[in-house]
Amino acid sequence: MTNSNSVAEHTNTAQHSKAGTIKAKPDAAHSLRDLFVDELKDIYWAENLLTKAIPKMISNTSNPEMVKGFEKHLAETQNHVKRLEDVFSSLGEKAEAKKCEAMAGITKEAEEIMSETEMGDVRDAGILSAARKVEHYEIATYSTLIAFANKLGENTAAKLLQDNLNEEQQTDNKLYAMCQAM
Ligand code: FE
Ligand code: FE
Repeated sequence: MTNSNSVAEHTNTAQHSKAGTIKAKPDAAHSLRDLFVDELKDIYWAENLLTKAIPKMISNTSNPEMVKGFEKHLAETQNHVKRLEDVFSSLGEKAEAKKCEAMAGITKEAEEIMSETEMGDVRDAGILSAARKVEHYEIATYSTLIAFANKLGENTAAKLLQDNLNEEQQTDNKLYAMCQAM
């Protein structure tokens, strides 16, 4: 009884994972380097979007400390775009953007939060929460890309990506402190 049950479970699991397998597109990444470049294109698109999304957060924030923090991070973000262009050129690749569905979603959700709150403390709290989600996506992306760059022996790329990561982490720490002070 126990035996047949576990066989049944095993079969179900196998069927399930087979059903979820995604067929690769013809231009699929074949190597870690291909994947690395694809993910750079994703974060390049995301950082570009943030240069437009952060000003919207600034216009909707009533807290002067938050405005100051966002203005600083906007300038850093513009520099993240430039650093990524340096990463592409260090790899001998053309800087190209590929839509980041995740950042499109996080920024869309941020606008939703703003439309569902009155200007003031509550909207500020919602903006902080959305901004932290932005930073965490960036932190996950950069830390992973640095690991890949190291594995690939791309030291210049790893260093530039680390510079971006440091600023994202510092920003997230400041955002967290502001959340706690709400
Ligand atoms: Fe950034
Ligand atoms: Fe950021």
